Amino acid sequence: MDTILVVNAGSSSVKFQIFSVEGEGILRRQIKGQIDGIASRPRLRASGANGETLAERAYPIEAVANVPAAMEIAGSWLRDELRIHPIAVGHRVVHGGPDFDRPVSIDHGVVARLERFVNLAPLHQPHNLAPIRSILAGFPSLPQVACFDTAFHRTHSAVADHYAIPHRLHAEGVRRYGFHGLSYEYVAKALPRVAPDIANRRVIVAHLGSGASMCALNEGRSVESTMGFTALDGLPMGTRPGQLDPGVVLYLISEKGMSASNVQDFLYRDCGLKGLSGVSNDMRELEASDDAKAKLAIDYFVYRICLNAGMLAAALQGLDAFVFTAGIGENSATIRARVVEQLGWLGVSLDHAGNSRNSRLISRSESRIPVYVVPTDEELMIAQHTLSLLMKQPSGNSRQERAS
Ligand code: ADP
Repeated sequence: MDTILVVNAGSSSVKFQIFSVEGEGILRRQIKGQIDGIASRPRLRASGANGETLAERAYPIEAVANVPAAMEIAGSWLRDELRIHPIAVGHRVVHGGPDFDRPVSIDHGVVARLERFVNLAPLHQPHNLAPIRSILAGFPSLPQVACFDTAFHRTHSAVADHYAIPHRLHAEGVRRYGFHGLSYEYVAKALPRVAPDIANRRVIVAHLGSGASMCALNEGRSVESTMGFTALDGLPMGTRPGQLDPGVVLYLISEKGMSASNVQDFLYRDCGLKGLSGVSNDMRELEASDDAKAKLAIDYFVYRICLNAGMLAAALQGLDAFVFTAGIGENSATIRARVVEQLGWLGVSLDHAGNSRNSRLISRSESRIPVYVVPTDEELMIAQHTLSLLMKQPSGNSRQERAS
């Protein structure tokens, strides 16, 4: 059975999935796994296609001290115990910089170019590149593909891509990139099947997970995003503040004496729903809490989604549909109901029964703008890109060179 390995490596975890290639480009998910607690309490957990547990193991801290070590453990579990030898590996890479507007086959030259974007995403890019480098070293002939969170947004116009700062900074890469591109691309590709009437029109997609952003799609292409240079901007998130006056950062530095790395930690880890509520970064816990600050954090989250919906509708010069996706968007009927209620001025009206069942279409038939829930699948998107780049390579190449 030909398989594709998808890898999503972060600072403390390596998530991986195995897809089998069935017939003409059809992919079926076979395994979902992750090694988390890298350098703290390492654990391998994996489940099969029907959710059955395949592995649940703890490792001593010194055995999994970094991302390459985690990748080695996941790789040898797949190879030696499950006899899985993927024909290619697709990686989630957060930053493709200004140049990469689509996935790319990886070689040493591409890795060198991607290293240049480490300073644009210092918390993510090095961890994304680590398993790429280990696989290049251990299995030099195994095809690898990099899929970027920024690539889908490279269609933005110049006004959407700039900040009002001197041009030289734009030239060196200080731009409004936008992120969650693999999720938006998946949703854009799913819309012709899910909602053919609106797929080629003006659509706002709200990706509401631990990280959260919104994207304006016109004819299936991204024209605007709430995120910018980094994944800090836009909506409030689990632990990130979203839009923040840069003056607050200056205040933290000048009045609070915080260093750049203190500020970075603070903005990525201590703000957002967690900072505002003082209760949790997890929406389920906030919804279950009676704490007034948890309520304020939810109110703020909903308010900012609706403010940003107005901004994106202006970018689109109108609106034909609204889509919810990701952990909160797919599962929280309460958040969806509150957002749709606050967008009532746009002529949106909710089908409460459909919403509480997490139906695909959750607006009433008389709603001027239909509202959908479309579960995202970034890993499938990566597997599809990987397979299609593999197919474009000189014939036979990939299959002869698989890892053994
Ligand atoms: P990521 O992939 O960015 O880590 P997810 O897309 O998995 O994040 O989303 C995680 C968020 O989704 C968490 O805030 C979690 O509380 C929220 N979530 C998941 N299920 C529900 C639910 N049933 N109700 C409310 N929130 C939920």
